[in-house]
Amino acid sequence: MIAVLKRETTQEQKLHLLTWLKSMGLDVHVSEGEEITVLGLIGDTSRVDMELLSSLEIVETVKRVSEPFKQANRVFHPEDTVVQIGEAMIGGGHFAMIAGPCSVESEQQIIEVAQAVKAAGAHILRGGAFKPRTSPYAFQGLKDEGIRMLLEAKKATGLPIITEIMNVRSLDLFEDVDIIQVGARNMQNFDLLQELGKTDKPILLKRGLANTLQELLMSAEYIMSEGNENIILCERGIRTYEHYTRNTLDLSAVPVLHELTHLPVVVDPSHATGKASLVPSMTAAAVAAGADGIMVEVHNNPSRALCDGAQSLTPEQFASVSQQVQRIREVLA
Ligand code: PEP
Ligand code: MN
Repeated sequence: MIAVLKRETTQEQKLHLLTWLKSMGLDVHVSEGEEITVLGLIGDTSRVDMELLSSLEIVETVKRVSEPFKQANRVFHPEDTVVQIGEAMIGGGHFAMIAGPCSVESEQQIIEVAQAVKAAGAHILRGGAFKPRTSPYAFQGLKDEGIRMLLEAKKATGLPIITEIMNVRSLDLFEDVDIIQVGARNMQNFDLLQELGKTDKPILLKRGLANTLQELLMSAEYIMSEGNENIILCERGIRTYEHYTRNTLDLSAVPVLHELTHLPVVVDPSHATGKASLVPSMTAAAVAAGADGIMVEVHNNPSRALCDGAQSLTPEQFASVSQQVQRIREVLA
């Protein structure tokens, strides 16, 4: 349930109302916009007398929120959430380019790629240290050593870093990581989501291979319900019967999510297509669709990559994609 307060409401009246609502065992999420204040009531709202609440002098409107996601819902928080990572910002008109290899392979490799993507305009460096691979015999990532190397690359370039967590047990290793990624395969690992909700780290939550947008938002809700509102959603393609591409990029997810939620939305055209040749056009389409950022795999030698070489751009290709992104953003502005 939400209650929109009248503009002229004083702090004292607001506090009075909050105390009353909380006395009914509800959590109240307050969203103070420039124009209006929205109170999001969370919990068992069946005990709230809607008529009584609507009749209060300071209350403009009261509405039941039918969707099961509450804190992620745009009606609870009409303004866009902006996630800040160092100097980078994502959401509310701020756009970020995240680039780097699928996996960290050596200190030299990650520093070289970091320098190249930074020079081409990337704001955040990606690199997997823990890799969720379909085969247990495939390269599983350098794990804690990989995180150490990412931190070296951060030191060398000043770029904030994002890397994927696979289970709660390794959370301590992520202390200096700027954004924790929850991969597609873990989107519904509810224990992990709840633990991440207890941290104050920005979380990039990827859509699962076969998950609906409502399920993605319910997973965001798991994190938010524990107190962490710093969430970036990521569309990375879903499973369909089409096999030419690795997944099918659901670009309509971008405007749909913008309608449903205030959380920023980025697109990963690399995992969505699985082919480097398709990444530039799908990146352009994602930007045109209103994405708040893109996440692209870049490798200094894609043919020798230990993971996802076929979908990785060279630094030169990324530089040209980056210029194209700037041009499209200028047209949209
Ligand atoms: C990744 O970003 O390296 C990754 C494994 O992505 P996804 O979870 O989307 O497959
Ligand atoms: Mn990958």
